[in-house]
Amino acid sequence: MLPQPYTSMDTHRVTLGCFVLSALELLGVLDEVVSEKDRKDWIEWIYAQQRTGFVPATTANGKRTLPHPVEGIYGFAGGPFSGRPYFGEGEKAVAACEYNVYDSSHLTMTYVAIMTLVLLGDDLSRVDKESILQSMRRLQLPSGCFVPCVTDYQPDMRFVFCAAAVSHALNDWSGVDREAMLSYIRSCQGYDFGIAQCPHQESHGGSMFCAIAALGLLGGEALHDQKTILEQQQQQQQLGLDQAPLEAQLSRVGLLDKEATIKWALMRQTTGFQGRVNKPTDTCYSFWIGASLKTLGAFEHVDYDLNRGFLFETQHPAFGGFGKWVDTYPGKFLRVEHNVMHSYMGVAAMALMGEPGLQPLDPLLNISCRTRERLERETVFWKKE
Ligand SMILES: [Zn+2]
Repeated sequence: MLPQPYTSMDTHRVTLGCFVLSALELLGVLDEVVSEKDRKDWIEWIYAQQRTGFVPATTANGKRTLPHPVEGIYGFAGGPFSGRPYFGEGEKAVAACEYNVYDSSHLTMTYVAIMTLVLLGDDLSRVDKESILQSMRRLQLPSGCFVPCVTDYQPDMRFVFCAAAVSHALNDWSGVDREAMLSYIRSCQGYDFGIAQCPHQESHGGSMFCAIAALGLLGGEALHDQKTILEQQQQQQQLGLDQAPLEAQLSRVGLLDKEATIKWALMRQTTGFQGRVNKPTDTCYSFWIGASLKTLGAFEHVDYDLNRGFLFETQHPAFGGFGKWVDTYPGKFLRVEHNVMHSYMGVAAMALMGEPGLQPLDPLLNISCRTRERLERETVFWKKE
């Protein structure tokens, strides 16, 4: 059972675990404080949350071979909240993961579960990649945006990021229409060149991170902008030079005006960062906007001293960890679960600034650089034969 203040988070229990383990990893103590037994048990527990389309049928070489029995949405759920029995390892455990429409996976939980498995040293060999890719094709909308699952229709930028991160982890982008994804990200940039969750909404630091990280993971020209292309086109025109087809060039980039987007992000720094114009400074935005600026190559323009000063002020002297605001702590103003998230984000924001004693953070996947290296070197989808 989760502690009482966390019970409403039962549907994304794996996320709470990821915040805790990832903070320990950034502090450089994960291997030291997690026993081998706990590590193995937690890996089994995470795999028990996988919703797989495969019927467990073991062949001589131990592989599951039967086709998908139902057209479901596969991946990971955030916890056993529906009351499924937990069998640990073995064939019975795989059977318990069979798809049920009322207890399907969630795209964010799939991202978090995969990252946590890598954090714990798993090689992802039991991740049902084909089912996840098949599901992502069904979760992407014609606009290019994603919904996280079929029973919870809320398309926005958060799930664009999750789809990009899962595709990167599986080293396979065949579950995503990348051109449509780029088009959606462009459509969420407004008159101020910040980035919103959905078209015509207010620019927001969290959706900015989701969009910028997705562009970084897409790679290629995704992080470039249309304004620069149009300026180059104009120059070439004046010089009478041949020009590449404009439409094709514009469709390959994810930003409208990179410089203006960077300016919007930098303007959110007060001491730490606010998530939107005129909102209070909040610990987590030192990460959301900090990581975006890092990816955009403009993090050196952040005032480190002010940012660090604010983050230190949100640390609780007795409980430890970071709060959302100065003078917040479990039980005061906010429910306690916000502080597990903000505690992780505080450490992550410090890691972005290269704070001594912290491991370097990858600003695209939001895991330590060491974990990303392990993902790309030791997991089955990346390993070179
Ligand atoms: Zn926050």
